[in-house]
Amino acid sequence: MKNLFVTSESDPRETRVAVIPSDVQKLAKLGWSVNVESGAGAKSGFTDQAYKDAGASIVSHEAVKEADFIVSVRKPPLEEVSNFKSASFHLSLLDPFNEKGLIKALAERGVYAVSFEMIPRSTIAQKMDVLSSQSNLGGYCAVIRAVSTINRIAPMMMTPAGTISPLKFFIVGVGVAGLQAIATAKRLGGRVEAFDTRPVVEEQVKSLGAKFVKIDLGETGQTAQGYAKELTPEQIELQRKGMAKVCAQSDIIITTAKLFGRKAPRIITGEMVAGMKAGSVIVDMAVEGGGNVEGSKPDETVITPNGVTIVGDTCLEARVPATASQMYSSNVYNFIQHFTSDAQFTINREDPIMKSALVCADGKITDERFM
Ligand code: NAD
Repeated sequence: MKNLFVTSESDPRETRVAVIPSDVQKLAKLGWSVNVESGAGAKSGFTDQAYKDAGASIVSHEAVKEADFIVSVRKPPLEEVSNFKSASFHLSLLDPFNEKGLIKALAERGVYAVSFEMIPRSTIAQKMDVLSSQSNLGGYCAVIRAVSTINRIAPMMMTPAGTISPLKFFIVGVGVAGLQAIATAKRLGGRVEAFDTRPVVEEQVKSLGAKFVKIDLGETGQTAQGYAKELTPEQIELQRKGMAKVCAQSDIIITTAKLFGRKAPRIITGEMVAGMKAGSVIVDMAVEGGGNVEGSKPDETVITPNGVTIVGDTCLEARVPATASQMYSSNVYNFIQHFTSDAQFTINREDPIMKSALVCADGKITDERFM
């Protein structure tokens, strides 16, 4: 297997492309040839000509039927699976916890499918970790989205016409996205506070020059993969109480708290939103997984009766598609390179990365969580 097919994205909201021209050239050096569906890079600024110049062939969607290795950003539509060749390889964000029907169809079709979300959090796999590469940009975009929505400026300014106080940011959930949100808000001159249930985060928050909000929730911690453990209902209540005052004083709140594979915790209640100042803005980055904020809606911007704007953009990184595609494509390249030797891609099922991310093989679903 050494021929890659880069498809156009089927979701009209998707602006990214899975492989960019400079990685086509790098793949060629590994012995791969690359077919790109015409127009696949258009929304992220990569023309068919740029792919051709990089050595790719431009093909129509029909080529999917002949493809050995198909890559995309988002999952393929269910009805597309019957077009895939048996024993072909597929790589994308398959969303396997929510897409069990799709995973079943891929398995029944005999496709070897890797769910990019399932790349393990190990040092060696970091360069293929698409959740991190995209969350990092998402955190940046959340802050930019918030400051372009609010009716005030971010930095403090002392002018002859008076002193302008800086915006107060509150970042809830300090993983990859939250850390980037803190750094971006600081760069814009905001005053930043942050909270996370994982106590290890406090040092990281302080090192970025932000204040860590301390709330005693008792035993919390993280899983072996670095993900937050689910809080008990009592702990969530304690968290809400501890956060209410900070929320009321904040101009911008960015929530990033997800629980991988599970519903996002509802951290900010309607009552807490009602206690905020008119003109404040909340960006709920967990909106797709159920939302951290009561009243947030996927891909909608809601204005509450007390004048708080709740932004529910589901894929913030898609606002910077050239950069987001560059990162995604680099993750794809690193994945392929890891399993390619002597110009041959091998599905090495003993490799811990493949073991963790391969969700269908030999006509079966390989992980019982997705059955
Ligand atoms: P995530 O997207 O699952 O969650 C975002 C953040 O929300 C996390 O920090 C989580 O602790 C926090 N959170 C969950 N419930 C919360 C609640 N009720 N209140 C407040 N915060 C809550 O997490 P992530 O960004 O993917 O990363 C989590 C950790 O894993 C980070 O420490 C990150 O650096 C680490 N990580 C390691 C690797 C690697 O080793 N290769 C790769 C990626 C991430």
